[in-house]
This record gives sequence, structure tokens and C-alpha cells, in this order.
Amino acid sequence: MEVKVIETNSPRETWELGREMGGKAAPGGVYLLEGDLGTGKTVFTQGFADGLGIREAVNSPTFTILQIYEEGRLPLYHFDVYRIEEPEEMEEIGYEDYFFGDGVCLIEWASRIEELLPADSIRIRIEKDPARGFDYRRIEIEGIR
Ligand code: ADP
Ligand code: MG
Repeated sequence: MEVKVIETNSPRETWELGREMGGKAAPGGVYLLEGDLGTGKTVFTQGFADGLGIREAVNSPTFTILQIYEEGRLPLYHFDVYRIEEPEEMEEIGYEDYFFGDGVCLIEWASRIEELLPADSIRIRIEKDPARGFDYRRIEIEGIR
């Protein structure tokens, strides 16, 4: 599978990448966001939401697990599954309706629920590299057709 690597040097550039991908997102798209705390998963998501036409503020849903935005071109389901311990907790949320629905899912910390993820998801990995500066990010995108 094709892996695309993009390097950014500011939050704005990561935001723009998200915006571009949000603009191209299709119904049923599932985007997995991986990377340590503070790498830019939420910055990417904010751009992505803007690309979908969502104007309301998008924040990390860490304490709610799922945040739903319906004002854009497609519904956006923003998950942060950092706190999920058991797959049953995802079942309680009714995650299947979102993962296999007609909106778009963005899932921060997706690797914590690996066994529940759709096979055709798009995987986005964000990494820092201190040697390249404080604002440098290496962003790997896998599964784009
Ligand atoms: P996460 O959701 O991965 O925990 P956030 O998106 O909340 O991370 O925060 C990323 C932080 O890193 C922000 O404070 C942002 O300003 C900063 N930052 C610096 N450089 C970049 C970059 N190139 N891309 C994204 N964020 C960056
Ligand atoms: Mg976040």
C-alpha cells in the first residue's frame, strides 16, 4: 500500500494538510490518528473539520470520547479513545453506527482499539524529530487510494 510522507514546520501547515484531506473526504471514510501527546492530532483534526465546512470550534474530546459535528458537508465523528480500556466501552457508545456509517470518522489514539478498526481505514502517523526543530513534524499517510 502506498505510504505518503509529508513534513510540516508549523501548526498551520499541519492544519492545512488536514483541511485539504477534509475537503476530499468521502462518506464512510475512517481516519486513524496516531502519535504521542502534543504531536498535532488535534491540530490536524481542526483543519480537517474546516475542510468539511465545519465552523464551530473543534477541541480534543478526551473526556467525552466522541464529539459529533453535523454542520459540515458530511457529519464528522471525532473520537479520542485514549481512555478506552475495553472494547465493551466502545460498544456502549455504539461505535459501529459511526465507523460503518455515512459520515467521516477521525480517531485519535486509534491503536488502542486496533481490533475494532475497519480494514480500509486511512492511517495517519505524526512524529516529532527534535533534531529538526521544535515545530517539525513528520506525517505518514497510509491507505489513501
Ligand atoms: P495532540 O492532539 O496530538 O495531543 P495537539 O494538536 O493538541 O496534539 O497539539 C499539538 C501542539 O504542537 C500544539 O500546541 C501546536 O501548536 C504544536 N505544534 C508545533 N509545531 C507543529 C506542527 N508542525 N504541526 C502541528 N502542531 C504543531
Ligand atoms: Mg488531541
